[in-house]
Amino acid sequence: MNRHEYMCQAIELACENVKEKGGRPFGAVIVKDGDVVATGVNEVMETHDPTTHAEMQAIRAASRALQTADLSDCVLFASGEPCPMCLSAIYWANIKDVYYSYTEEDAAQIGLSTKYVYEQIALPKEERDIHLRRMDKRAFASDPFALWKKRET
Ligand SMILES: [Zn+2]
Repeated sequence: MNRHEYMCQAIELACENVKEKGGRPFGAVIVKDGDVVATGVNEVMETHDPTTHAEMQAIRAASRALQTADLSDCVLFASGEPCPMCLSAIYWANIKDVYYSYTEEDAAQIGLSTKYVYEQIALPKEERDIHLRRMDKRAFASDPFALWKKRET
């Protein structure tokens, strides 16, 4: 299979998701050494879980299938341009090559824009709509970081 065929599969998954499950129009395919090792579709409507984007589902499935959190030897084909959450997951999975077809602008035209989150992340912490407040670790008895450090030595 070539890049066009992998993307075709991601787009077909997105279409099936809309037609058969009433889901959002996103699909993703993860390829390793030329083989499709995992696929995913957007399952937010079905699961009521806001993290079940197509890329997230494909990354979860690929990690389970390959029994590793390091997908650096994989390529991701996403029908739509990844949102900030999925892009972050792509970083965490060490995936270096990502292809997408439908752009953020295309998604905006059908009411599925992720621009707001990209804009929020680019703002200084204090200007974001989400209040991210630090609570001093010294107020708590347990120290998970110390446990981790001890485990390492
Ligand atoms: Zn996403």
